[in-house]
Amino acid sequence: MLSIRTSLNKIPRTQLKLCVRSLSKIALPAVPTAHAKPGFEPYFTASYINGQAVKSDSKEWFDVYDPATDVVIAKVPQSTEAEMDEAIDAAEKAFQSFKKLSVIKRMELTFKYVELLKAKTNELAATIVFEQGKAWSAAIADVYRGIQCAEHACNVLKETEMVGLEVSTDMETKTVREPIGVVGSIMPFNFPVMIPLWTIPYIIATGNTTVIKPSEFCPGTGALLAEIAKEAGVPDGVINIIHGKAPTVTKLASDPRIAAVTFVGGNNAGKYVHQTATKHQKRVQCNLGAKNHVVVLPDADKDAVLKGVVSGAFSSTGQVCLSTDILFLVGEAREMIPDIVETVKQLKAAPGFEDGDFGPVVSKQSLERIEAVIADAEAKGAEVLVDGRLNKPSGEEFKNGYFIGPTVLKGVKKGMRCVDEELFGPIFTIVEVPTMEYTIDYINKNEFGNSVAVFTQSGPAANKFTKEINVNQVGVNVSVPIPHAAFGFTSNKNSFLGDLHFYGPTAFKFLTHPKTITTSWKNMEHHP
Ligand code: NAD
Repeated sequence: MLSIRTSLNKIPRTQLKLCVRSLSKIALPAVPTAHAKPGFEPYFTASYINGQAVKSDSKEWFDVYDPATDVVIAKVPQSTEAEMDEAIDAAEKAFQSFKKLSVIKRMELTFKYVELLKAKTNELAATIVFEQGKAWSAAIADVYRGIQCAEHACNVLKETEMVGLEVSTDMETKTVREPIGVVGSIMPFNFPVMIPLWTIPYIIATGNTTVIKPSEFCPGTGALLAEIAKEAGVPDGVINIIHGKAPTVTKLASDPRIAAVTFVGGNNAGKYVHQTATKHQKRVQCNLGAKNHVVVLPDADKDAVLKGVVSGAFSSTGQVCLSTDILFLVGEAREMIPDIVETVKQLKAAPGFEDGDFGPVVSKQSLERIEAVIADAEAKGAEVLVDGRLNKPSGEEFKNGYFIGPTVLKGVKKGMRCVDEELFGPIFTIVEVPTMEYTIDYINKNEFGNSVAVFTQSGPAANKFTKEINVNQVGVNVSVPIPHAAFGFTSNKNSFLGDLHFYGPTAFKFLTHPKTITTSWKNMEHHP
C-alpha cells in the first residue's frame, strides 16, 4: 500500500512532551496528544502583543473545533479595535529601533529562530493536528516546510547586499535595501505553521515588524510562533498576533501605519484585500485559489503516477492549494485506471493522532461542501469510482468528525461543480483525453495558475509541455511542484495578485525599499 504516512518523516508521538505552555498572563492547556472528548474545557486563544501573550477583552468569541470529534476545543476572539490599535502601535514603535539593528544581528536572530523551531517541531505539529485535523505526518511536514523558509531567510546578507559603482571619477552610487515598515499578514487555515513562516523569518531578517491574523479555524499556532521568536531574542513588538474575521482583515489592509500586506487564502477575500490595500497605497502580495491539473502521458512510469496520485490528491487531506483536481489520462494512459482506483481504495481517513493516511477536513461546512460536490456530479451523470462517503472511520468517538474517505470521480464535464470549482478535499476527477496538446490548450484557458504537472518518460514531450503551459509552477513527474524556499512561490494568473512573490529572493525585495546614495569626494581640499 502506498502511504503518505510512511513516506514522510514521522516522529513517534511518545516523544511528545506533556508540558504546560509557558505563555504568560493566560493559562493554556497542555500540548495535546489525543483528540478532544465531549466535556473538554475550551481554552482561550492567546493574542500576542508587544512581547506578551494576552487574553482579549473582546465580548465576541468564536468556537474552534477539533475536526476529528466536532468538540469545541478553544475560543478565538474578534480582537477589539483597541487591541488591534495596540498591536499596530507596538509594531510601529518596535520598527523604529529594530530597523537600526545590524543585519549581522538580525541574521543571528533568524538562525536562532530556526534552531528553536526545530526543537519545538512536535509542539507545533500537535497544535496543528488538534485544531486543524491533519494527520501527524502531514503536520510535521507543515512545520518542516516552514522551517525551510526560515533557513532561507538566513541568507539575508547575500540577498540584501548593497551594490555600487564608481559612476564618474571619485563619484560613487550605491543601492542599499532598507526595511519597509509594519507588515500586516492574513493567513488561511490549511498550513497553520508553514504559511506564517513564509513571512515571519523574512520579517526578522530584513528588520521589519508585523501584525499577523491567523485563520479563525486554527488560530493556536500564531502565539506559539511569536513566543518562539521572543525566546530567540527577537525584541518585543516585532511579531504581534491578533485575531478575528473580516474586521481584522479590513484593519490590516487599510490602517495608515501599515506599509505592506501579505495575504494567503481564497479569491474573494484575496481580491478584497488587494483592492483595499492598494487603495491605501500599500505594497501587497496575495496568494489565491487554484484549479490544478496533472497530465499522464501513455509512456509514464506507472509507479511514479500512483505515488503522484496519492501525494497530489490526498496529502494534507487534499486541502493544499497545489492539490490535484483533475487527472488527465492521455490515450493509452487510461489503462492505469484500475491500478489508480485500487491504490486509492487502500487509503484511509483517520484522526490525526491515530494511524491513517490523512485526517478529517477542517470544518463541518467544508465536509458538507465536498459531499454536495460529489452528489452534484452523481446527479449529472458522473461515475463515482471510489466513494469517500462510504469510507469513514468507525467507532463512537469519531462519529461526528469531519471525515470523508478518498474519492475518485470519472465521466465529468463542465457544468459540474467538481470541474468548475476548486475541490480542496480528498477527492479528484479522472478525465480521458486524446492528446497532450488538448490538455495544454484546456489548462491554458483555465483562469488559475497555481500548479500543473506532467508524468512522462519522454524528455521532448516534457520539454514541449513545460514551454507551452501557462502555469508558472510546473512539475515533471512531480505532482505537487511546490518550489523549495530558495526559489519562491511563483504562481500566476488568478492564483496571484501583486508583483513580488512569497518567500525566495523576491521576499527580500518585497520587504525592503531600494535606496540609492550618490557620493562625491571630488575637490575636497580639507583632507588631512
Ligand atoms: P479564506 O479566503 O476563506 O480565508 C483566508 C483569510 O481571509 C482568513 O484569515 C479569513 O479570516 C479571511 N477572510 C475570509 N473571508 C473573508 C472576507 N469575506 N473578508 C475578509 N476576510 C476574509 O481561505 P481559507 O479557506 O482559509 O483557505 C483556502 C483557500 O486558500 C483556498 O482557495 C486555497 O487555494 C487558498 N490557498 C492558497 C495558497 C497559495 O499559496 N496560493 C495557499 C494556501 C491556501
